[in-house]
Amino acid sequence: MPKTAKHSSAEPLLEELPLLPADSEDSQLTTLLRVYLSQAEIEQVWDAYRYSDGVHKGQMRISGEPYISHPVAVTCILAKLHLDVPTLLAALLHDVVEDSEVSKEELSERFGKQVADLVDGLTKLDKIELQTAVQAQAENVRKMLLAMSQDVRVILVKLADRLHNMQTLDVMKPAKQRRISQETLDIYAPIANRLGLNVIYQELEDLSFKYIYPNRYNVIAKAIKTARGNRKEVISKILESLKNKLADSDIEATVEGREKHLYSVYKKMMNKGLKLSQVGDIYGFRVLVKDMPTCYLTLGSLHSLYKPIPGKFKDYIAISKVNGYQSLHTTLFGPFGTPIEVQIRSHAMHDIAQAGVAAHWLYKTTDANLTQLQQQTHQWLQRLVEIQTESDDSHEFLEHFKVDLFPDEVYVFTPKGNILALPKGSTAVDFAYAVHTDVGNCCVAVKINHELAPLRTEMHNGDHVEIITSALAKPNPAWLNYVVTGKARSHLRHYLKSIKVTESTHLGGRMLNTALRALHAEPAQIKVKQWNKVMRDYGARDKAEILADIGLGKRISLMVAHQLLASDDEHTQPNTQKSFDKITIRGSEGMAVQFAQCCRPIPGDPILGFINKDKGLVIHTHDCNAISKFKLDPDKWLDVEWDADDKRLFRVDLRVMVVNERGMLAKLAAGISDAGSNIDNVSAEEPDGSQYSTINFTVQVHNRVHLAELIRNLRKIPEVVRMNRLKGKYREEKV
Ligand code: MN
Repeated sequence: MPKTAKHSSAEPLLEELPLLPADSEDSQLTTLLRVYLSQAEIEQVWDAYRYSDGVHKGQMRISGEPYISHPVAVTCILAKLHLDVPTLLAALLHDVVEDSEVSKEELSERFGKQVADLVDGLTKLDKIELQTAVQAQAENVRKMLLAMSQDVRVILVKLADRLHNMQTLDVMKPAKQRRISQETLDIYAPIANRLGLNVIYQELEDLSFKYIYPNRYNVIAKAIKTARGNRKEVISKILESLKNKLADSDIEATVEGREKHLYSVYKKMMNKGLKLSQVGDIYGFRVLVKDMPTCYLTLGSLHSLYKPIPGKFKDYIAISKVNGYQSLHTTLFGPFGTPIEVQIRSHAMHDIAQAGVAAHWLYKTTDANLTQLQQQTHQWLQRLVEIQTESDDSHEFLEHFKVDLFPDEVYVFTPKGNILALPKGSTAVDFAYAVHTDVGNCCVAVKINHELAPLRTEMHNGDHVEIITSALAKPNPAWLNYVVTGKARSHLRHYLKSIKVTESTHLGGRMLNTALRALHAEPAQIKVKQWNKVMRDYGARDKAEILADIGLGKRISLMVAHQLLASDDEHTQPNTQKSFDKITIRGSEGMAVQFAQCCRPIPGDPILGFINKDKGLVIHTHDCNAISKFKLDPDKWLDVEWDADDKRLFRVDLRVMVVNERGMLAKLAAGISDAGSNIDNVSAEEPDGSQYSTINFTVQVHNRVHLAELIRNLRKIPEVVRMNRLKGKYREEKV
């Protein structure tokens, strides 16, 4: 294991070194590079700097500084994390394609394909950054994910870029400062946290906090500064006693006071309803030791010095956080009655705690923890990409993404004793989907700590969870109300979509049977062999797929029937006389059958079904304009009839001309309601100065008989002059 890197705390000396020219020996960048790169590598970086400087020549930042200072500063941030040369080159070049005529090809020739790809990924991210709508934000995150899943270094440069922009946000107008800060807080800081880049994460949060709530920021910053000054003596006394105790126990350790970042203090106040004084009262210390066993020895030693506060101990070494963070956390009763928070970890753990996935570039070793962190990060990205391909709604996707980013987690046990990490608030259904999609789809009940509990039960740390499944069970749409993981939600959505397919399959089956009978064939006698041939011809996976296609109007039932029969050698071709049975519209078809908006058919109207490629079967009245428009293509139109038992309500538009008189509307409404009908909508047409006025109603009726009854009622009103049922814009049916 190499010596611990000194990137963890900002080196103040470095900040005083000149930023430009970056290729001079005493520049910030060169000083950072000298720590871990060879002369040849440093010259590569210098070369890219000079190239970028040439391209950006004459360009200024809003602050008035030469533009090149920005890419150089971004590169410095990444050099502190000891990132590799291609990443540094991409950082230096990250704006050249955007701001000039330089092409990807040119970069590829000069700096290699890897660098060109990284720059390309960054350019694409930048292009969408300016949009503010939630939709665009989601798009932005999607692109980011795709870029990340190919090469995580793209996001590392992006985060450094964002950090420097935040550090220099002062020159922007307040509105822009707030917008950029909110975006940083919503998206970039959580990504940095998820990737374990704590140094960047905390600074991004603090800077965002400063611009979004300048007053709160100032108050907290000042209070912490004062508290630190007042308690200097106390802190150094505690520090001494910790050091002495560890020395007595023969434990070699570095003990330091730990500064909390402002935004975490603010969050703690908000979440726990604490006053500033209560938060500021807590002392934080960090103990760094050589290895993992020593962490536990240290813990024991400190617990014998000061009593631990029960329930405050957390072992993130045995169960690391998903972003790879490992540490022991404990809170002790201090000598002055104040609680002392102590974090204990090894140097290697500390580097991961500070730099997360970026620590990979710090150590070119095959450290088991790091490799595991890389794998977890990869899995996380894969899972998000999986969710994003399953959900077409970008807003919904953003919600998943946000939930998955905030790593407040609960840890629960599977029946086999494995530990699963789930977001806080996860229910048994989330757990079931986390175990396996099939478990989620078939879960019926859950045993939590060996007792039966409802599926909506929230998981708590240490729960022992056992899902009971049944092969016949199906996901319940109501679960959507209480699942919190992206995975569960996206699988449920997927399932609900597939229900629509099931409905179409049933309808398609009935349509095909009708077509077969019209060809004088009995559906039950179609052989498997015949189906197989047709499935092969269509490239369909199964019979259901063909039936669903028929139901959705993508295939013509008669054509499929013909092909099924033609594929049977023994079957003599029937006479081509088509005499279709009618297909009954039962009302159980759900989304597979729709009623045309143009003519609004109701039971009793003579109807035809039109097979629409996207909408499935659309029902029109015989006299609808649409029919003459599409001509009577016998393959597209189907004879359909109403089911006599249909109990649904259908909308009908009525136009009523009445003598202008006070209280007319009330009289008409009473007539409609006496007929047992509801009014869906009323509108009066512009009066034309005559003694008549026209009122349009949309009413709900069961069928034509019901409508006739309603019309009889209205006719009894003497002031009603004329009445029409509207079918489409231009058609009126005299009633
Ligand atoms: Mn930039």
